[in-house]
Amino acid sequence: MAVTQRYGPGHRILVSGGGGFVPSHVVDALLARGCTVVALDNFVTGSRDNLAHLATEPRFTLVEADVTEGLPAHPALADRFDAILHMASPASPTDFAKLPMEILKVGSIGTMALLDRAVADAARFLMASTSEAYGDPLVHPQPESYWGNVNPIGVRAVYDESKRFSEAATMAYHRYHGLDTAIVRIFNTYGPRMRPDDGRAIPTFISQALRGAALTVQGTGTQTRSITYVDDLVRGILLLLDSTETGPINCGTEHEMTMLDLARLIVELSGSSSTIELVPRAADDPEKRRPDLTLARTLLGYEPQVGPEEGLRRTIEFFRN
Ligand code: NAD
Ligand code: UDP
Repeated sequence: MAVTQRYGPGHRILVSGGGGFVPSHVVDALLARGCTVVALDNFVTGSRDNLAHLATEPRFTLVEADVTEGLPAHPALADRFDAILHMASPASPTDFAKLPMEILKVGSIGTMALLDRAVADAARFLMASTSEAYGDPLVHPQPESYWGNVNPIGVRAVYDESKRFSEAATMAYHRYHGLDTAIVRIFNTYGPRMRPDDGRAIPTFISQALRGAALTVQGTGTQTRSITYVDDLVRGILLLLDSTETGPINCGTEHEMTMLDLARLIVELSGSSSTIELVPRAADDPEKRRPDLTLARTLLGYEPQVGPEEGLRRTIEFFRN
């Protein structure tokens, strides 16, 4: 089904976490369409560098604030928003131990603060959820109808459960307040603007390969992920935003591969002589993950376009520079 563009010139969009890796690309895409964009970020994991190229863009404003403390009094936040995208949250598994309270708060207090603002503005609200909502899945690939297999008291729970709470809150506001909402379940996404020390597999492997260090593959490396280049994800998010779908809708690719194969591919593409070292595996690490993309394809006309080799080449180039 073809989705007609709903947001463009004259529309005001708020993007929480706008200084982060994925959200900063969403900000760029919305600006390219002619929207006016406000990014709200406290830079707990994001970077001002991701938005530096927008310093002289008149349709863009950065508001530095913590969304869990409520929206500050700021001229850029005074007028009504047409859409609010809640993308703020630390997202790397290494942050689950370092920033547990921040993750819990941004997925609960932060989500409710922005849902309340969306109600006040009669804005469309888009929640950036995650494939982690499926936990260590017992169904493969994962359709949106699968309720997941999450350890509610494990080390990953601060993230998984706060995103599941965010989904529950979003649906409650939709049902109770009649709010126009959308939930996207994002699968492992990579690309330029990831931090080399972010802790996630792809930036870690690329920075190790480029400095000639051993690539630290956890466990036996047979666990799988389906990797998505950021441009594909951004197109999917904008298709969902433009649609009237509520979701949840998976967004990602079916390029499923083992972490050992991913490490080998990165060594090859970066022309590195690095070796691979097996290191201990994190607790509750999902064994396999691949989205069922039927809903994204049939409801949004979404089709990923960038294969792993091309996407990784572009990302390696970014890290080299
Ligand atoms: P990121 O850390 O680069 O971006 C998150 C941004 O949110 C950062 O700029 C951070 O500073 C900001 N933030 C965090 N807490 C905040 C708060 N309390 N107030 C204001 N800003 C705050 O991570 P990312 O990978 O770009 O992820 C972006 C969103 O997409 C997250 O919500 C994440 O859960 C979701 N997601 C990402 C992936 C992925 O593979 N990249 C997968 C699933 C879901
Ligand atoms: N991983 C790894 N080495 C690293 C970082 C991660 O082998 O330095 C593995 C991790 O065990 C997991 C997979 O790579 O199985 C994906 O991890 P990542 O943190 O990128 O994303 P996740 O899907 O766990 O959120």
